[in-house]
Amino acid sequence: MEENDYLIVGAGIFGATVAERLAVAEKKVLVIDRREHLAGNIYSYTDDKTGIEVHKYGSHIFHTELDEVWEYITKFTDFNDYVHTVDTRHDGKLYPMPINLDTINMLYNTDMSAEEAEIFVAEEAEKDAKRLGISEPKNFEEKGISLVGEKLYTAFLKNYTEKQWNTSAKNLSADILKRIPVRFSHDNRYFMTAKHQGIPKDGYTKMVEKMLDHENIEIRLGVDFKDLKNELPEGIKIVYCGQIDELLDYKLGVLPWRSLKFEEEKVEEGLGEAVINEADAEVPYTRTHDYKFYQVHQPEVVKQKKSIIAREYPNDYEKGGEAYYPVDNEESRGLYQKYVKLCKECYPGLVLGGRLGAYQYWDMDKAIYNALKLVTELLK
Ligand SMILES: Cc1cc2nc3c(=O)[nH]c(=O)nc-3n(C[C@H](O)[C@H](O)[C@H](O)COP(=O)(O)OP(=O)(O)OC[C@H]3O[C@@H](n4cnc5c(N)ncnc54)[C@H](O)[C@@H]3O)c2cc1C
Repeated sequence: MEENDYLIVGAGIFGATVAERLAVAEKKVLVIDRREHLAGNIYSYTDDKTGIEVHKYGSHIFHTELDEVWEYITKFTDFNDYVHTVDTRHDGKLYPMPINLDTINMLYNTDMSAEEAEIFVAEEAEKDAKRLGISEPKNFEEKGISLVGEKLYTAFLKNYTEKQWNTSAKNLSADILKRIPVRFSHDNRYFMTAKHQGIPKDGYTKMVEKMLDHENIEIRLGVDFKDLKNELPEGIKIVYCGQIDELLDYKLGVLPWRSLKFEEEKVEEGLGEAVINEADAEVPYTRTHDYKFYQVHQPEVVKQKKSIIAREYPNDYEKGGEAYYPVDNEESRGLYQKYVKLCKECYPGLVLGGRLGAYQYWDMDKAIYNALKLVTELLK
């Protein structure tokens, strides 16, 4: 470790971007990860028998509106032309998601034009809010109903959200739901505003391997920071992409997260598309992924009958488990800030990074963007 200028804890996309940029700037970098693989939560591997690239921690679709991020990441991989679409299953039928004109017409069994549907949804929302006495929405449920009406809300938002957060929508803040993206058109692209979108042709792990393939970078997998922290050489700068509460031995309590469990299965016949959301309460999982549909540049993989699917179950997070989504509210933000203060006292000079260190949900492009920004600061 003595030979290194920087220790990067976490070999996810954030840590990999920081390490790569520092290495190019002639810094010696040691990257560690406690997992036995690179790439953090975007890790994927190819199944030998089928050639299917399995996204171990759930579907990951790269999408961005940021040209600088696209310019950066395309140095390490070519992307295919995959454009993400999602259907939601409700009462045994599949509906386009986010809600669009077809979703509305299917649910109401109507044939409205875009203009008619827009007026209709606004009228339904107003009528239902009035009937239920909602003037100032006090929670997620009231907000949902006041935005799109009870029928659309109940079909597509209520149960899905309750499964995700394991609580009644009445207990969730109205603030979570700023707006419901309803499209009065047939457009079913999931990331409608993405300027660039696709899946790395050789997979995410190969992309990260290429980022870290530099003479100034040393990688050690299966190594936890806590096993090194007592032997850190003086002067080494640390970028820490793990959980701050864990780093500080949970001295102030556990930061709230939501977790997920993925149940993988090799099947004789797949879903027919990459992701199906499950909107109904009786189905305990929220999504099913069918990974082969991301490989549009390999038609032989997509065309085979067999597939590898994964059911995604939301889970309560327990200390030491896998943290997926921060539970973002005033209380948790307050606790996080207290940890940041404590961290400055205990580890002066340590920089927090990545989705875990920042206690934020970031898409991959945001993680890269923030990593690039951090390196500019570090090199000043
Ligand atoms: C279900 C799901 C689906 C998603 N889908 C998309 C998508 O379609 N498109 C998109 O753009 N984004 C998506 N994201 C977001 C994406 O996963 C993140 O942007 C990305 O993983 C963030 O990378 P990171 O490097 O910050 O964190 P991570 O990938 O989590 O990397 C952190 C690494 O730090 C390591 N670590 C932690 N603590 C220690 C320690 N003490 N010692 C050593 N190592 C440690 C961990 O093992 C981990 O490998 C999704 C997220 C989720 C949860």
